Amino acid sequence: MSSVNTIRGPIDSSALGRTLSHEHLTNGFSGMENITGLLPRAEMVGRNLDALDRAKEAGIDSIIDCTPWDLGRQMWLFEAVAGRSPVNIVCATGVYRWVPPIYWGMDPDEIAAIWIAEVEDGIEGTGIKPGIIKLAWDMEYQLTDGRVSPRAVLELTARAAARTSKATGIPITCHTRAVDELGSPLLDIFEGEGVDLGAVTIGHSNDTQDLAYLRGVAARGANVGLDRFFSTNVDYVAERSGIALALAQAGYAERTSLGHDGTPAGLWGRWREEPNPGVWTLVPEHEVTWLLENGASEADVEAMLAGSIRRTFEAAAEQVG
Ligand SMILES: [Zn+2]
Repeated sequence: MSSVNTIRGPIDSSALGRTLSHEHLTNGFSGMENITGLLPRAEMVGRNLDALDRAKEAGIDSIIDCTPWDLGRQMWLFEAVAGRSPVNIVCATGVYRWVPPIYWGMDPDEIAAIWIAEVEDGIEGTGIKPGIIKLAWDMEYQLTDGRVSPRAVLELTARAAARTSKATGIPITCHTRAVDELGSPLLDIFEGEGVDLGAVTIGHSNDTQDLAYLRGVAARGANVGLDRFFSTNVDYVAERSGIALALAQAGYAERTSLGHDGTPAGLWGRWREEPNPGVWTLVPEHEVTWLLENGASEADVEAMLAGSIRRTFEAAAEQVG
């Protein structure tokens, strides 16, 4: 057991229960709250509370919000829902895929110091402490030209995430471009930095059907985040759920986690046209149903929804004894 920071304060890792591994209360971009009239705050709070209630009714106990400041993290939103959410919410420090220039001239220890301060002192004076470190490697990783190339700064942030994890004992969750197999070079860096790979989730991994790659990530000890789930279309459900089933049948249910990468009040996607209070119910109500009907055991499902995420928090905590 270990302690996990939630936006309501620390809980024991055993209390996480069924956890969605990658979600957003809101998302957009840094500074979006400064655009007059862009964020309808009362509506955003209401939409989140509706979605959190629906998630709880569907059997979800916790969600991990993967929104660092440069993706539009809103502390007022966390403060507004913390006391009213029936679901535990873990929030994130770290960085999104378009690394802000403030970090370009820093070394990994200087970046880590900023993130470590959020973990130790709380974010923006709120006292709310992040429970996880977000990192994001996408197409920009392929850009290697220039004195400060996108790949170079992504590698810088990966080392900073590793050092933050080792200093604070909190896990790392990674947005990756799965078709480029970016989990592999990321895990190489974490390994070189001495991070326990059991504390690392390689996310957005169900954007590929390449099971050899995904089994390889799990075989190294990391957690495979099958955390994109946007549709109830039967073919879509079967395709995405089939990846989870294959990993469970390979013996990796404990190294596989599930989520939607969904938000009820983000600036990306469809929510601004129509409310989507069921955004966090597709995994429990459609994917889990498909898994149980197609050969996964109750134990497999429990491992993927609860055991795997709990393991990442406990492995991270072990690093600091
Ligand atoms: Zn996301």
